Amino acid sequence: MVDPQKIWSSSQLPTLPAVAVRLLDLSKNPDAEVNDFIEIIRTDPAISAKILKATNSSYFGFQSNVTTIDRAVPLLGTTVVTSLALSFSLVEAAMTTGPMVEHYRDYWMQSVIQAATAELLATKTPGSLGSEFFLAGLLCDLGRLAMLKTVPDESRQAIETARERGLDLFATENEMVGVNHVEVGLKLMESWTLPPATILAARHHHDPLELIQQHESANDSDLIHATAVASSVGDYFCGANKGQALDRLRVLTAAFYDLDETELEAFLSEAKEKIDSVGELFALNTEGLGDPHELMAQASEHLTQLALRQQAAAAEAVARQQKLEEQTRLLESKNKELTQQAIRDPLTKLYNRAFFDESLQRELDRCARAAATIGVMFTDIDKFKVLNDTYGHQFGDQVLKQAAGLLGGSIRKSDVLARYGGEEFVVLVAAPTEKGIAKVAERIRAAMEAAKFVFEGEDVPVTISVGAALAIPQRDTAELAEKLISEADEAMYDSKKNGRNQCHVRVLLSDAERVLMQKTTARRFSRWLVNRGVFDIPTVSKALVNFECPHVKIGDLAVRRTVLNSMEVDQILEQQQSSGKRFGEIAMQLELLTEDQVADLLAWQSECPQTLAVELVKKGLLERQAATMLLKTYIAEAPAPRENAMA
Ligand code: GH3
Ligand code: MG
Ligand code: MG
Repeated sequence: MVDPQKIWSSSQLPTLPAVAVRLLDLSKNPDAEVNDFIEIIRTDPAISAKILKATNSSYFGFQSNVTTIDRAVPLLGTTVVTSLALSFSLVEAAMTTGPMVEHYRDYWMQSVIQAATAELLATKTPGSLGSEFFLAGLLCDLGRLAMLKTVPDESRQAIETARERGLDLFATENEMVGVNHVEVGLKLMESWTLPPATILAARHHHDPLELIQQHESANDSDLIHATAVASSVGDYFCGANKGQALDRLRVLTAAFYDLDETELEAFLSEAKEKIDSVGELFALNTEGLGDPHELMAQASEHLTQLALRQQAAAAEAVARQQKLEEQTRLLESKNKELTQQAIRDPLTKLYNRAFFDESLQRELDRCARAAATIGVMFTDIDKFKVLNDTYGHQFGDQVLKQAAGLLGGSIRKSDVLARYGGEEFVVLVAAPTEKGIAKVAERIRAAMEAAKFVFEGEDVPVTISVGAALAIPQRDTAELAEKLISEADEAMYDSKKNGRNQCHVRVLLSDAERVLMQKTTARRFSRWLVNRGVFDIPTVSKALVNFECPHVKIGDLAVRRTVLNSMEVDQILEQQQSSGKRFGEIAMQLELLTEDQVADLLAWQSECPQTLAVELVKKGLLERQAATMLLKTYIAEAPAPRENAMA
């Protein structure tokens, strides 16, 4: 046990460099101007240089080279710059040599993971600021750094014991040191007068779900949620107790972000990508972190082991009973693993047909709720049998693998690509427009035509025929899955019959659906910005890559936008139960909304304007003030209600 005073009176306690302190002060001042930030940063050439280097890193993805701080600061925004300056000060503090180097590195690695994950979660939280989330993730373990610096022996013992015995570090510190890194971190952050929201998020980063939920109504609950999840992801990648970390991660992501097991796995892969890019920003090698899928298996196994260990201590009768249960659990987790293998095609590593069919059904149900379009694309390599016969089966396999990669590179992340059979690939295209799906089809065709397939030094031309079908599902979707697949397949055969190496698209929309879809597309904030000449299409498309906003029910949205009251929404929902029609359709029939208003709601549902505005500011494409003005104008242009409407 240590006397806490030893920590607080230590000369080793981390301090903030003057620049970081002044930037933090400035960011609390509402009248502060960008120039004030620039001037402060200029006083510290080392930090200036690092910020410039970061600005030009692939992490931010600006097109032209930024050579001066005057340009970097407005591009990044003042909050990002402040959090970068703080981050770079922390890296300094975490860089040491000597026997503790490994522990410092672990601390820093985990902080970077948490920062990256929290920032990723900001993209899933409307109205949130990525840099604020980033900072909360980065700083929530600050106490670990302070303890390493001030009570190195004790904190090292705690870390090593926790690791050897697979215990929670937080609990081990309490037991062995008498103080834990959360308390220490909070006190230090308070003395640095960091933003209260950041401190609050750090306070709860190890709390169990029930405790966090008590703060559900707090202003900063989004930040608290994200930091707690980020901390679990940190423990999952770096901690000794992976099983427990995975357990907590499952509980938290299910409660806060509604993720199921498959979505959690996808989220972890996404987080890993983000971690790699943040690692690059701080010149930190994240290669050793391991693949999230393998970790998942490890963690599941760890969970089982933990349970087994506990069981050994219990009475024998109970033990026998428990053993049975454990074996069942083991079987179940094995089963899960097998299911994972069962959804991939071994040759191309793409999803298989079963997984595709399942995804299609799920996506159809989702689109039916959102009245969104869905597309299915069928592709079939031309004259593949001839290739096999001429160059051998092995070359055929190689072509399939290469084609899988080309297709994967031609679609969006949210699309599902699968190997449907021999040389047939299918794509589930999320929320396509007519033009959009035709473009994707053509991109795939052209990519195959342009690709180099080489057999023993000789170029072998390979082409592909593509067919696609597009529809808006009604609430009863069972038949549509088959219909979409067969129409896409037939469209593909149209391409074959017409001479191969081409694309055909079938649009299964009624005239009314088409009009509503066009109106909806035109009313999307991104499209509106293009129409106003704020951006060109390539810029907006770039901003929309990886852009996601959480699903909001259209009824809730209508109330929030004050175009319907909740009684009207209930009335519509009731009719929906019996008729199976779409929300918007009923609202128009009941003369509660105009078609333009329905299109407006659908546009908001698929692309929340505020979330997109935040994203654009974050990506440095818009100044914050300009974004606010544009949002205002966009909202003011909402379609007029019916003349006799009450709302
Ligand atoms: P078309 O342009 O009309 O599509 O002609 P095709 O030759 O591509 O069509 P067909 O369906 O007659 O031939 C498909 C061939 O794909 C036959 C089959 O042996 C081969 N094939 C299926 N699966 C695999 C595989 O996994 N590896 C290899 N190398 N060949 C495969
Ligand atoms: Mg073929
Ligand atoms: Mg075929």
